[in-house]
Amino acid sequence: MTRDLTGDFQTQRQAADQMPYPTLTVRRDRLARLARMTKHHQLEIIRAIQTDFGQRSDVEIRMAEINAVLHAIRHTRLHLWHWMRPWSVSMPWRLTPARARIAPQPLGIVGVISPWNYPWSLALMPIVDAFAAGNVVMLKPSEHSPATSNLLQRLVAQYFTLEEFKVVEGGVEVARRFSELPFDHLVFTGSTAVGRQVAQAAAVNLTPVTLELGGKSPAIVAGDADFDKAATDIIFGKGMNGGQTCIAPDYVLVESRHISAVVKALSEAIQRQRPDDHAATHAINAAHQQRLDAMLQEAHDHGCRIIDHGPHAPALVIDPHRELQVMREEIFGRCLPVIGVSDMSAAIRYVNARPHPLALYAFTHDKGLQQQLLQTTRSGALVSNATLLHHAVPSLPFGGVGESGMGAYHGRHGFERFSHLRGIFYQAKRSASRMLYPPYRRWLIKL
Ligand code: NAD
Repeated sequence: MTRDLTGDFQTQRQAADQMPYPTLTVRRDRLARLARMTKHHQLEIIRAIQTDFGQRSDVEIRMAEINAVLHAIRHTRLHLWHWMRPWSVSMPWRLTPARARIAPQPLGIVGVISPWNYPWSLALMPIVDAFAAGNVVMLKPSEHSPATSNLLQRLVAQYFTLEEFKVVEGGVEVARRFSELPFDHLVFTGSTAVGRQVAQAAAVNLTPVTLELGGKSPAIVAGDADFDKAATDIIFGKGMNGGQTCIAPDYVLVESRHISAVVKALSEAIQRQRPDDHAATHAINAAHQQRLDAMLQEAHDHGCRIIDHGPHAPALVIDPHRELQVMREEIFGRCLPVIGVSDMSAAIRYVNARPHPLALYAFTHDKGLQQQLLQTTRSGALVSNATLLHHAVPSLPFGGVGESGMGAYHGRHGFERFSHLRGIFYQAKRSASRMLYPPYRRWLIKL
């Protein structure tokens, strides 16, 4: 396997060296094939993902896996000609009439390590941006979604040459070797703990990394919010994919005097949005299910009030102790703690006392509070009065900060992330810089 991996890597290296600057036509063609691969095999994709999860809503798969990729490709194919054009930047007057430009250039080979939770879209979204930037790519999808990983491997071999795009299947050992390859950039989407190991492996080769990690994304519900509407949005974000979403609201913060009203609104939203048993999404595997069951059991054993509407609906855990598992680790499942705080300043202090989240959701129309959140907290994204929807805006950079990740992609941000922004300086025929050369004139230092 190691020999295959390095052999395939060498093949890609030669291909990248032979075509260091793929034209717009080549890039658009790669993107079009990626779109066809997704569009023409929708039923196989749905079946593979449902096999991996045991059960998952096909509407959600179409929305979050298939359409997400197709929309990203459409946006990128439309704007790519513009992104690829070098752009001029200003010149200090001393150096005029020279000119300066920035020319985006492909990096070479981009490696992608992807997770199981959105096994199609999180594998392909970074590849859309890497192809747009003119790179070739190698992908290591998750071993926890083997049917989708295998389908990716088969379809990619059908639609792309090894020189353009290679899928490497395998478990942790393969993933480790993969992260040790001397890529020109490595994108990792997964847990913070594994992200650290990937960053260490990449550092040996000085490979730059984009780390799309997880964490606990809070949803703050202020007193002025419409509780029913806030609850609808929070349950939508939590319910999607059974809570197995990196930007799912992990817990809710609300002023203690409003906690029972908010819990009531959340409970009603769960009943309204509760999927039929045959349309619900399951936890990815037994180990993950056991981890979630243990979290709920521990909260129950500590005397927490739990409002549970059934095995596939979000379960509210009211005011759990901060030392419980449900508040110590990313939930990535159906538990939804609701925490009471004295006021909004206490909510902000609560958020700031913990690692920076991937998303911070705030339900308020109070401009002062929105401004305060913008200026006094840090998170990958700040989202007002909605959940998850920022992910669908291709012009927004998507990524974390601190423990939730480094670097962002999507749309133009991804194109630039996987490009080298090369500084270009053109000296004019009649240059003024002769006066900069020795012997130096004393008056020059006064300028
Ligand atoms: P994970 O970290 O267990 O695995 C992700 C990938 O890393 C898999 O392909 C796996 O094979 C590989 N891997 C495992 N050990 C490795 C090692 N030592 N070296 C290199 N690669 C290794 O994550 P997961 O359980 O698949 O996904 C869940 C996590 O991902 C959650 O924390 C979630 O928040 C996060 N996530 C983040 C985003 C985002 O965009 N920021 C999106 C989805 C999921």
